[in-house]
Amino acid sequence: MGVSRLPIKIYTVDVSPKEDVKGDICLYVVDNGEYLTLVEAGPSNGYIRFLNWLEENGFKTDDIKYVLLTHIHLDHGGASGYIARDNSGVTIYVHPKGYPHLIDPSKLWRASLDTIGYVAEVYGEPIPVPKENLVTPEDNEIIDIGEDRFKILYTPGHASHHMSIYLEGERILFTGDSLGLYHGGTVIPTSPKPHNVPKSIESIMKMRSLQPRKLGFTHFGMSDDAVKMIEKYEIVYRKWVKVVEEGYKMGKDITEIYRELKAEDLYINIQERFFRSRGYGEEEVLFSLYGIYSYFEWMDMKSREGS
Ligand SMILES: [Zn+2]
Repeated sequence: MGVSRLPIKIYTVDVSPKEDVKGDICLYVVDNGEYLTLVEAGPSNGYIRFLNWLEENGFKTDDIKYVLLTHIHLDHGGASGYIARDNSGVTIYVHPKGYPHLIDPSKLWRASLDTIGYVAEVYGEPIPVPKENLVTPEDNEIIDIGEDRFKILYTPGHASHHMSIYLEGERILFTGDSLGLYHGGTVIPTSPKPHNVPKSIESIMKMRSLQPRKLGFTHFGMSDDAVKMIEKYEIVYRKWVKVVEEGYKMGKDITEIYRELKAEDLYINIQERFFRSRGYGEEEVLFSLYGIYSYFEWMDMKSREGS
């Protein structure tokens, strides 16, 4: 008999911020038998739900050793300050570009209100995280949890400070928003402004090259057939980019582009059913299309400045 290895347990915890809504936002809890590692902190307004989950499963906030944030947007990193408030010994990993916004979230909060409006209110306002609780990993940094190890991968595109997190032994890739939204077996981009198209594509390639077994989406849940799902995402993403770029060059406005894409992309219709069931609407897809659109506007501006 070899050395016995404790099985790692992985839980998907629903931290959707609206009380009566399920399946909007999740975080992952990895239990190595000794302590917990969280992937994502969830939104501020999902924190009570998370505390209830901990209690129901016989855990305490003090059992959390690490929190690995894919990025600082309110639905992913929002509750970080609450976790640090309730467990002063926790270590939270955040991309160096995200770090200042966890220490002082006021600018992030105002920017969120400006860009996503009432959805920011739904997620809730973050509170500051003490510096002592924060660590800024480098690309490819390893976090050893004894029974397995996490690898940090910089995956910019959705945000310049986005990281995906790979649990190597289990071959589970936690994707944050870098491979879009996963609902009803379909994937579509989530690409609000500021979005970077070539960086997104590079990140997709980087993630595919890992050949993961499963994907852990923050929106929402775990998917098998990871490589196939990444390939599916790449096709959808490239199609969106193509339609938006053509529309932009022809001077079409964003709602026209949206209607065109929706007419030929059935995933949008499937996902919009999920959005509506959670009390959101077509603005989700419009925000994402506008993010891609703005990328082309930005490229145009840069080339005009350069000439
Ligand atoms: Zn998100």
